[in-house]
Amino acid sequence: MTYNANTPDNLSQQSFSSLMAQAPVAIAVLRGDDLVIELANSQILQIWGKDERVLGLPFIEGLPEIVGQPYVGLLQNVYTTGQPFYGTEAKVTLVRNNVPGIYYFNFVYQPLIGTAESPGGVMVVATEVTEQVLSRRKLEDAEERLRLATEATGLGTFDLDLQTGAVIYSPRLARIFGRDSAEQLSHSELRQIVLPIDMPIVIAAFDKALKTGIYFYEVRIAWRDGAVRWIRTNGNVVFGDDGIPQRMLGTTEDITEQKQVMDDLLKSEEKLRLATQAAELGTFDMDLINRHLVWDKRCRELFGMDEDSPVDYETSFLLGLHPDDLEKTDEAVNFAFDKARSNGEYDVEYRTIGLHDKKLRWVRAKGKVLFNEQDVRYRFIGAVLDITENKQNELRKNDFIAMASHELKTPLTSLKAYIQLLLAKALHTGDSFLLNALQKSENQINKMTNLIYGFLDMSKLESGKLVLEPTEFDMNALIQEVVADNRPIAQSHTITFERGRPIWITADREKIGQVINNFISNAVKYSPKETDIKIAVSQVDSGLKVSVTDSGIGIKAKDQQNIFQRFYRVEDESTKGFSGFGIGLYISAEIIQLHKGQIGVNSQEGEGAEFYFMLPMKPSL
Ligand code: ADP
Repeated sequence: MTYNANTPDNLSQQSFSSLMAQAPVAIAVLRGDDLVIELANSQILQIWGKDERVLGLPFIEGLPEIVGQPYVGLLQNVYTTGQPFYGTEAKVTLVRNNVPGIYYFNFVYQPLIGTAESPGGVMVVATEVTEQVLSRRKLEDAEERLRLATEATGLGTFDLDLQTGAVIYSPRLARIFGRDSAEQLSHSELRQIVLPIDMPIVIAAFDKALKTGIYFYEVRIAWRDGAVRWIRTNGNVVFGDDGIPQRMLGTTEDITEQKQVMDDLLKSEEKLRLATQAAELGTFDMDLINRHLVWDKRCRELFGMDEDSPVDYETSFLLGLHPDDLEKTDEAVNFAFDKARSNGEYDVEYRTIGLHDKKLRWVRAKGKVLFNEQDVRYRFIGAVLDITENKQNELRKNDFIAMASHELKTPLTSLKAYIQLLLAKALHTGDSFLLNALQKSENQINKMTNLIYGFLDMSKLESGKLVLEPTEFDMNALIQEVVADNRPIAQSHTITFERGRPIWITADREKIGQVINNFISNAVKYSPKETDIKIAVSQVDSGLKVSVTDSGIGIKAKDQQNIFQRFYRVEDESTKGFSGFGIGLYISAEIIQLHKGQIGVNSQEGEGAEFYFMLPMKPSL
């Protein structure tokens, strides 16, 4: 649009000026080769940051900061060519209140045709759009940040116009659908990527979204290469004032890996379920934060419970135990809860009395307490197995051993008495052959007696009949006695023990003697002839420690954990030729445990062993 903006014929110069002054836009008229500022209304003066003193000055003098910006050139171009110029959101540096700043304008440079009275020029009409530009930039920045954030989380975004069906989506969404970021797909093309079998899910979700406003589905899609992926879409519908759905905005993510993990988990859970079923294992799972306990069907059976009654630790578990096993089982649980002591391991045998069926069952329970990074326990899981039948067999076997040992005790005692009688006689007559033979016989009888007493102790332990008879005694005196008893058998070794001043302790003297005896006879048995065996007593923290150290074959770390178990014997090259039943250390450990003490071993293979026990000075027996 070109028009002659010289003072129109029917408009006086004055009226034109006043019209300009009142115009709601910024206007200036520049004339002549120097683009002298002929007119400038108050709006444009304000924009320029100048006052009326600029009138009559060439443009670059009135607005010197404009030099170096493209506008002078543009104005001259309009002036010489007579072609108008339109600028949109043009960036201009201006000095307002002596401060240079950047501002944005939409403007027109309109050529003015020269006449006889006045030269041609350019009319400048401008509106400032700085605020709009800056706020749009902010919005664009925010959108860009949001886009980057959603891209970073792996989410694709989409915006579907529900009226036209046009869809706009982020590059990530295209990639999730197995397409190139730049590929333009329509809504229906996107839908075609969904596996046909899953399409009803999408359609149902879409219909539902149009009613509820919420869009959600998880379906499979097929990429071009045939790969099947899982996607999850979440969206919201925007409704117009009339309640008609306008747009659907949302995100889509690839959840193939999540699904895979879930799938694997379900499969392994299923396998575990089958395995526990086959082994008739019951399972328990306790949430230690809320103390919520879950027992499966089999676990309930082992506690003689109906299938659906609720369970908890105190009333179902503890009260379901045989009263004689309650304390030890509760202790086993507390032990497992103490990470420092047990590393969360739980392994115990107990009897249950059926809550509803009143039946007695033997149960072996094994479990694990789970701790978080702060070592706070949060879950206790495990399995229970019915061992009633094994236990009954074992008890029968025990009874048999107890009976047999008992029956053997009497003839052995009289045999020993006879031999001691004969020994006294042989000493008298000085028959060295007889003396030697009888001494050897006595040693063998002692060994046999120890063995039989071991069996008797074991069966007493198993049936819970091994009770302590505590007295106060001097530990040093007891050790000396045991050492003296062992000297005849252990002539091959040098046993050293330095008896110090009395150390008084309350414990079952005979049984503690039995433990020391077991340590010494093992030391003799598992170390070469002519080596030393050292016995020491020391006071520790709130108790005392007795240790027996040998220079024998030693014990591998993996065996050290087991040698205190019943019937456990190390079976390898190093122990070839040593006979035994693997009950000595088991009984010793039980005796020390009954005293609330601790038993242990320090050893390295081939480098001897130190067996020790610690007893509290003032035990609560
Ligand atoms: P037994 O000696 O009858 O086999 P124990 O219960 O006394 O049974 O010992 C269990 C196992 O511990 C032994 O079989 C042996 O392998 C190992 N053991 C015990 N004491 C020692 C020791 N002083 N040195 C090396 N190994 C030992």
